[in-house]
Amino acid sequence: MEKKSNKKLYVISGSSGVGKGTVLKGFMAKHPDFMLSISCTTRKPREGEIDGVNYFFVNKEDFMKSVEEDKFLEWAEFAGNCYGTKKKFIQQCLNDGMNVILEIETNGALQVKKKMPEAVLIFIAPPSLEALEQRLRGRHTEDEETIQRRLHEVKKELECAKKYDYRVINDDLENAISELEKIIAGEQEKC
Ligand code: ADP
Ligand code: 5GP
Repeated sequence: MEKKSNKKLYVISGSSGVGKGTVLKGFMAKHPDFMLSISCTTRKPREGEIDGVNYFFVNKEDFMKSVEEDKFLEWAEFAGNCYGTKKKFIQQCLNDGMNVILEIETNGALQVKKKMPEAVLIFIAPPSLEALEQRLRGRHTEDEETIQRRLHEVKKELECAKKYDYRVINDDLENAISELEKIIAGEQEKC
């Protein structure tokens, strides 16, 4: 994808339950000028999730139609559901001079890096695998089968993380948010 402005694309990944959403919420509260991309997914909404706010919730048929029509910058299957980032929205935001953040899994992140090498990849890591599992279970949003599917992805994700530009350990939440802020501020200075 052609990039016409000096604004940056930041890609945040991390295993399910590591706290990406929580860290990003903290970051976005302090930096409302950044645009957090809204993905499409075939996953069913969790309690409290709103269509067009958390995700665009679509059925598999519509999702695959968008794939065929090459509408995604990246897409991937994760733990039994499809997730994708619409190209048009990201291009529009960058052209409009916004810094954009994608919160996506590792296969999609590496697709983005291939197409847009200037994208900055940041991996959020847990302080330990035990803490990760505790957080995922403690969130009470997934059934046991889904938890197992998500934990099954962790090894692959940690392997992909080696290809990322930065790593932030989400041990203390405030430290993780300020670490993310420092990384992004450093990258913004390079613009
Ligand atoms: P993800 O978006 O990576 O799947 P969430 O942001 O939903 O993860 O966080 C999973 C759970 O972990 C939530 O209950 C959240 O409150 C908790 N959590 C997030 N960060 C921390 C942290 N630094 N320490 C302890 N618990 C955390
Ligand atoms: P969840 O179902 O917990 O919301 O998300 C599951 C995983 O899908 C997370 O790792 C999340 O970052 C990732 N994800 C969310 N949106 C996208 C997307 O547009 N593309 C890709 N590749 N992954 C996504």
